[in-house]
Amino acid sequence: MNVALFGGTFDPIHSGHLSAARAAMKSFSLDRILFIPASLPPHKRARPRTGFAHRYAMVTLACAGVPQFVPSLLEAPEESGGEPNYTILTVRRVAALLGPPDRLSFLIGADAFLDLPHWREWVALLDACDFIIVSRPGFPIAEIAKVVPPELQAGPGTDNRIPLRRTALHLLTTVEADVSSSGVRRRAAEGKSLAGLVPDAVADYIQKQGLFRHEHEAK
Ligand code: ATP
Ligand code: MG
Repeated sequence: MNVALFGGTFDPIHSGHLSAARAAMKSFSLDRILFIPASLPPHKRARPRTGFAHRYAMVTLACAGVPQFVPSLLEAPEESGGEPNYTILTVRRVAALLGPPDRLSFLIGADAFLDLPHWREWVALLDACDFIIVSRPGFPIAEIAKVVPPELQAGPGTDNRIPLRRTALHLLTTVEADVSSSGVRRRAAEGKSLAGLVPDAVADYIQKQGLFRHEHEAK
């Protein structure tokens, strides 16, 4: 089994997430991508979040019809006990379920990877699984290598692969999806169409549930 974990707030899931997942699935022959909405994202505690149930429901709708896309409850509130969802803990839980022939990667956008040094036990996390880092407009992929101190790197690497002590960083530079959840929320608040930005079933859900109608964020 070749498994990737895709963690996020998914508030809501959008076509950028899905483009990243599809590109990773093709390039790395992934058998499964677990989409894992965090009930309590460690770095987003300041802002009111859409409830976990809504975010998970939208992930489920977006995964429908793609056998490899699996909505995951690994970071559901009942799994988290009120604690923030730290990726290192989720990765360890999944790794413990997999055997030696299996491969585990973490799928992440370039913006989020650049923030990695602020994540809990981030050096242990880099040792725990491969990373598939997907380009995102506005976040230079060239900066990626600078995030990782030289002593953690094992050799020079190539344009799309940076070998680490036990794992590797894979750079996927072909995704150019200029979509963000904040942008989708803002459009929804303005009553604008979400066509093309989120799957139709997700747009439908947002409308039926009246989500993001009162989005007062500056961004
Ligand atoms: P927000 O605008 O609220 O920050 P977001 O669009 O960044 O939301 P998240 O749920 O924060 O979405 O992102 C989850 C993961 O998906 C992160 O690793 C992020 O880098 C990645 N990601 C999100 N949007 C894109 C995109 N357009 N292209 C590539 N990766 C993306
Ligand atoms: Mg984000």
